[in-house]
Amino acid sequence: MALVAGVIRRLDEAVVNRIAAGEVIQRPANAIKEMIENCLDAKSTSIQVVVKEGGLKLIQVQDNGCGIREDLHIVCERFTTSKLQKFEDLASISTYGFRGEALASISHVAHVTVTTKTADAKCAYRASYSDGKIKAPPKPCAGNQGTQITVEDLFYNVNTRRKALKNPSEEYAKILEVVGRYAIHNSGISFSVKKQGDTVSDVRTLSNATTVDNIRSIFGNAVSRELIEVGCEDANLAFKMKGYITNANYSVKKCIFLLFINHRLVESTALRKAIETVYAAYLPKSTHPFLYLSLEIAPKNVDVNVHPTKHEVHFLHEDSILERVQQHIESKLLGSNSSRMYYTQTLLPGAECSSSEVVKSAASSSTATKGTSDKVYAHQMVRTDSREQKLDAFLQPVNNPQSTGPTEETSGVNVGPPEGTVRPQDAEMEDVSERLETADVIEMADVQQDAVMPEGLSKSRHLSPEKAVSRKRPREDTDVQMEEDTGKEMTAACTPKRRIINLTSVLTLQEEISNQAHESLQEMLRDHSFVGCVSPQWALVQHRTKLYLLNTTKLSQELFYQILIYDFANFGVLRLSEPAPLYELAMLALEDPESGWTEEDGPKEGLAEYIVEFLKKKSEMLKDYFSLEIDEEGNLTGLPLLIDNYIPLLEGLPMFILRLATEVNWDEEKECFESLSKELSLFYSIRKQYVIDETNLTHSQNEDSDSGSPPWKWTVEHVVYKAFRTHLLPPKHFTDDGNILQLANLPDLYKVFERC
Ligand code: ADP
Ligand code: MG
Repeated sequence: MALVAGVIRRLDEAVVNRIAAGEVIQRPANAIKEMIENCLDAKSTSIQVVVKEGGLKLIQVQDNGCGIREDLHIVCERFTTSKLQKFEDLASISTYGFRGEALASISHVAHVTVTTKTADAKCAYRASYSDGKIKAPPKPCAGNQGTQITVEDLFYNVNTRRKALKNPSEEYAKILEVVGRYAIHNSGISFSVKKQGDTVSDVRTLSNATTVDNIRSIFGNAVSRELIEVGCEDANLAFKMKGYITNANYSVKKCIFLLFINHRLVESTALRKAIETVYAAYLPKSTHPFLYLSLEIAPKNVDVNVHPTKHEVHFLHEDSILERVQQHIESKLLGSNSSRMYYTQTLLPGAECSSSEVVKSAASSSTATKGTSDKVYAHQMVRTDSREQKLDAFLQPVNNPQSTGPTEETSGVNVGPPEGTVRPQDAEMEDVSERLETADVIEMADVQQDAVMPEGLSKSRHLSPEKAVSRKRPREDTDVQMEEDTGKEMTAACTPKRRIINLTSVLTLQEEISNQAHESLQEMLRDHSFVGCVSPQWALVQHRTKLYLLNTTKLSQELFYQILIYDFANFGVLRLSEPAPLYELAMLALEDPESGWTEEDGPKEGLAEYIVEFLKKKSEMLKDYFSLEIDEEGNLTGLPLLIDNYIPLLEGLPMFILRLATEVNWDEEKECFESLSKELSLFYSIRKQYVIDETNLTHSQNEDSDSGSPPWKWTVEHVVYKAFRTHLLPPKHFTDDGNILQLANLPDLYKVFERC
């Protein structure tokens, strides 16, 4: 029969049902959610989901619940439910399902098969359904207690829906999201989801795991370690709330909000907004928290009937309840901040929030912050202007003019902003590169590259740099963000060709370094603002809103090690003005109790001679690969130039020579290069026992050491930490072994001040 336009016809009942079903079941994840709720209603403790093609081809949900008893023939009929008998029951419903709509709907848009066994039944029964009707009487079969429901070819008869869902991986992601959330809400019950044929599950929780365990296994450690437990209730408003929320250390670009109301996964835009308002004062702009909240509201007050998909909910006394929740969360966030900041923590800069934080890194601030009208809260501002005061300004004024370093005018120690000047926001976050550039010029012009030999060796011996090699590391990809490479100025003067190193040993060592690199730490180092030296060993730096205490000794050692490995065989030479006899150096080291020399080791002289002869034999390799020069008479004549303007403290030279002969593995190529680089980097690192603090010297001593070499603090800030920005790939373990410590987070400090 031809269709006549304008004639109103009664729709075929099957079509009506199909349309209605499409309202309830919009995608595989909806179906799975309904099926999981049924499993939970059936008191299951294990729920396993298997899917094929994102659930479009197959969904199989297996539980170990009570099973379906007599009603197997009608489970897929609309409005059949074992959970609700009369209308009044609706007000006190405590099970998930109550309308008997889910299975019926699914059976209208897919092929459904149910296999089920109750505890007292002798065997399991299986039945298939189509359009809400059982196809044939249930057949007895083998099976475990519980229910397995299989949904095949979802939307096989709904062309438009099938076409709209053509991306199985997107559907699969939705499924993982839903099951993961139910798993978190239902600790004590084990969940798993996997693709058919896979042996490994993509979501898997154990029945003995806690809620936090489950959050960890689904959202990762970054979330789980920043969780605060919340919980409150109000008898008047007839509601209870509990859950876990992240503290101010954690933030993500998109809010993760797991909301269960009366154990049903729902959405409440009003609640989300209310909570986000509280967090706005704690988190960097346009970043968000992770929230898992479970609300129990008197069933009579909740309107879950808004829509068949039951997503967005509204409830009675909504405004009052939101306010209570806000208050509670605010109090918890406050509490967690003030108590946390007294502990020294090895925290990483948040990797996830890096790109979206409002306070732009030094490198990008000049372009990114100008002209934007984004509101920046006071507690989110970061001072990175070099003209602002540094730590030194708060310490006792130092009489010795030398101690402020050769770049007094630009290092900005005592130069604050002119009084009464209102600094615009942009200036607050001005780039530090301006200062760095100026400093570069002065470094090149003014710093004398000399160092004095340790006591016991001729005082007139100096080191001066030579043959500076243009240093461009082969890691082009990681260098793209680099500021001016220090090698740049050198290139103009002389451009020796870089030697290409193809030694497997060296390439492996390079790879080991890059594999260990911690990305967000690297970003922190790259964009940090130097605050000040606490001691030769420790320095403070700021990155965004966080203050860090860094182990200069360990970081500088790692820096020099990495330079030795990456610039292998491409170093300039620090030439000694007068050769230093290895014998004398070795003797000095052996005199030092630190060498551990005892009578049993034999006479020192003999050992020293042996060391000289041994190192002379290695001199060719040492010179070729490490620019460590030893002449035929057994004198040290040159050391590698690892970074411009940096000369190791020669007080450590004797011990280095001793260790070079005794601690290096000279037998295996890779181990040799590695241990040799380790020894060299130890010697080059900033070590407190060799640093003489000028501030503690008398005037005459000061005159004495006044050889033109800059004070250590200047070197640490302008040479060593500057090199950290571009030349150090911080290894992951630095966070665990306490070499990088986060001391405070600015928003936390503000909160504490507010309470005072
Ligand atoms: P509702 O959950 O609203 O009752 P459903 O269509 O989801 O409606 O399920 C219909 C009925 O099928 C349920 O009332 C229940 O008796 C039975 N059922 C469905 N799934 C299971 C299961 N996994 N274990 C036990 N019974 C189930
Ligand atoms: Mg149900």
